[in-house]
Amino acid sequence: MRSWPAPNVPKLPGQSVPLRLYDTSAKQVRRTDPGPTAKMYVCGITPYDATHLGHANTYLAFDLVGRVWRDGGHEVHYTQNATDVDDPLLERAEQTGIDWQALAEREIELFRTDMEALRILPPREYVGVTEVVGEVADLIAQLSAKGVTYELDGDVYFSVSDAPKFGQVSGYSQAEMLGLFAERGGDPDRPGKRDPLDWLLWRAERPGEPAWDSTLGRGRPGWHVECTQIALANLGPGFDVAGGGSDLIFPHHECGASEGHAATGEWPFARFYTHAGMVALDGEKMSKSKGNLVFVSKLRGAHDPMAIRLVLLAHHYRADWEYTPDHLAAAEARLARWRSAVALEAGPDAEDVLATVRERLADDLDAPGALAAIDAWADRALAAGGSDTSAPDLVRDLADALLGVAL
Ligand code: ZN
Repeated sequence: MRSWPAPNVPKLPGQSVPLRLYDTSAKQVRRTDPGPTAKMYVCGITPYDATHLGHANTYLAFDLVGRVWRDGGHEVHYTQNATDVDDPLLERAEQTGIDWQALAEREIELFRTDMEALRILPPREYVGVTEVVGEVADLIAQLSAKGVTYELDGDVYFSVSDAPKFGQVSGYSQAEMLGLFAERGGDPDRPGKRDPLDWLLWRAERPGEPAWDSTLGRGRPGWHVECTQIALANLGPGFDVAGGGSDLIFPHHECGASEGHAATGEWPFARFYTHAGMVALDGEKMSKSKGNLVFVSKLRGAHDPMAIRLVLLAHHYRADWEYTPDHLAAAEARLARWRSAVALEAGPDAEDVLATVRERLADDLDAPGALAAIDAWADRALAAGGSDTSAPDLVRDLADALLGVAL
């Protein structure tokens, strides 16, 4: 389906710095080593209650990954899905009396508008699951042919005992896995399953639920396998980064990695599993189920989207943090200071600012460190001026290209 329009990204002079990124699977920061085309898959929204600050925080983190790679001369092939049919969406549609497809379409459109306003670079492929149900069913049939699945009352499960790498993405204990599986959409207690952690690949048609014809009969895909198929179809195995919020580490990315391994025989399915932290409000993680959401679209009504972007950039992407309106006031003050400084006819030399911003972002996306470098330059420019007439434009360009902040 349609993605959203791409903002312009200025070309920067000088030498880029190769990106080092935290890999959840390796539990350490490692240097990314993409080919000429860097490949990234980031899990998309389930389209209801879009787009809260937690979503924006995740997509911004991976936007920075793409920007650093682009600065390094790589082409970036970025794919994202939208889970436009799944239990939570159908439940919300039922509760609100809105047709599930109309709800999904409305929220995806809102998401696109929010992403564009925040200057998030769009994916090359933005794929709704409902567009590829047949392909997902074909992948499940392939997995079945390899003997790693079984049927339960017409539904198809992946058998965790046939997943030799299971646990290597999250590193979680069996007890942690069981707890999170139940909490995040799994069904550990369903009678007839061989192992509580076996996960659903295909849900046969139920009365009143949407279903599609496929090689598996009528039904719809489970959550994890949709991403595996969309990533495989567009990026192939062994792509550079699989991303999402830290609540996707388990079971979503764990299960997807084992599906990819079973389908292709290649491990790892993604070279990096990278996760953004959670944004809280009033002491609790911002989530749809708790209803404590701050929506980007609502903030946009009264605030510059670039200030919203600066709120997020002021926190390291892996940190869990709590949003308060003070953050937005501070970001607006910072934005005003930066804009005043780049509006000057000359300023202090800014080549070291570019070098520092590159170095900070390449170090596992240290955006707060990058902001501090621009703050220092803006303070110097506003206090004492400077004689470099190209410096204000260079700072404007680097803030735009590397941080996505249009001044
Ligand atoms: Zn996903």
